[in-house]
Amino acid sequence: MSQPPLYIGIVGAGPSGCYVADALGRKLPGARIDIFDRLPTPFGLVRGGVAPDHQGTKNIARQFERTLGKDGVRFLGNVAIGRDISCDELRAAYDVLVVTIGALEDRRLGIPGENLDAVYGSGQFVAWYNGIPDGRELEPKLDGKSVAIIGNGNVALDIARLLGKTPDELASSDLCAHARAAFEAARIEDIWLIGRRGPLEASFTTAELAEFGELSRVATLVDGAALPEIIPEHFDAEQRKLAEKNLDVLRSYAARGDQGDRPLRIHFLFNAAPVAIRGELRARELVLARTRTENGRAVAGGETFAIQADTIISAIGYRSKPLPGLPFDSARGIVANEQGRVEPGVYTAGWCKRGPQGVVPANRADSLAVAELILADLAARQASGKRGGALIDSLLAQRGVQPVDFAGWQKINAAEVAAGQGRPREKLTRLEELLAAAQG
Ligand code: NAP
Repeated sequence: MSQPPLYIGIVGAGPSGCYVADALGRKLPGARIDIFDRLPTPFGLVRGGVAPDHQGTKNIARQFERTLGKDGVRFLGNVAIGRDISCDELRAAYDVLVVTIGALEDRRLGIPGENLDAVYGSGQFVAWYNGIPDGRELEPKLDGKSVAIIGNGNVALDIARLLGKTPDELASSDLCAHARAAFEAARIEDIWLIGRRGPLEASFTTAELAEFGELSRVATLVDGAALPEIIPEHFDAEQRKLAEKNLDVLRSYAARGDQGDRPLRIHFLFNAAPVAIRGELRARELVLARTRTENGRAVAGGETFAIQADTIISAIGYRSKPLPGLPFDSARGIVANEQGRVEPGVYTAGWCKRGPQGVVPANRADSLAVAELILADLAARQASGKRGGALIDSLLAQRGVQPVDFAGWQKINAAEVAAGQGRPREKLTRLEELLAAAQG
């Protein structure tokens, strides 16, 4: 008698989930793969995280479309694990379960004033401008002259760049209509990009840093005296290369002078650690401690100063949200795992496995490694008698949950592209609009 099919469930249809599905689908041609997402739309951070003006990065979605459209693969959007289906039910249905839920929760600054109005985490802010339904209502206050962005990673640069672009410069992006309107209405004059360590330790990459030099209304302000002459001996080759390239761009910004005729100034402020946010009900000032970098760490010497900050966005990294019924490492904010193994038959990949580091290709490599691990473990597989998606379908039907399938996503996609009118797309940003479009 032939073996029953292998049933694989994947929670999270972002890049990591799609890469795992693709790798397992190729190696296990008879397998039935179900990919769940809490949203009616697939592709995770490619849709909801990657900056809307970085359309080239989003092209990878075409490859993921092909994966989701393959025989044996099903997309089940609008199904939240923990709400509609439990982890135990997934364990009961699938021979292999892979959790690729990313890292959706903002890390906290842990300073007084953090809960004031007009203080946002980058996850919230990015979800808002990228039109994720549950971030849609944020309506961040962008009504002041000065915005402080805390963090020296690429997310901080994405936010500063989008705020710095003119409507014309955003014309070829898929920035959502509500965010375009808010950016156009804003009268921001100063954006502070704040690193708690020095320029050598910044984690942003050079191409992203160099983009500021091309923005027509932006003056890039860097204190040339804050830029080190020498790169320390202990930097490895990769760190040295990044630091040298970043320093070249920062030096070119410092050499531009104050560019006084430009209406929006972006200040690159290094060695400044946030210690408090001040204001009545809403943020108005960010208090910073001057630091020096010692043995790779930011050390404050006691001197503090304040900058006007009518809006504060912390772009300091993310944590995963615990999935009810699945072991969680709360110290690291990830799914508890040993190199991708969570427990027999349950695996994890991507940001929820290793923390929020690395761009899409890094997550591809991680997903491929976890797929190899799964294949190795499956060598000892016994017939399990599990029912796969049939069990899940009956549970969803009993609970009145209607998943959005791949055809439903294609209808959403077509509606958004048609509404784009010269832009790549005009995203539907409310759950009910997305569900209606999925019905066609
Ligand atoms: P990130 O690169 O880890 O940057 C986080 C920044 O926050 C660091 O500068 C860090 O400083 C700072 N930070 C952390 N805790 C802080 C605190 N308490 N106070 C002040 N500063 C603090 O993370 P990310 O920007 O969120 O990006 C996540 C990943 O996505 C990265 O791999 C990034 O490259 C990738 N990404 C790529 C692109 C792109 O390629 N265009 C765009 C967006 C994101 P320390 O270094 O001192 O800890």
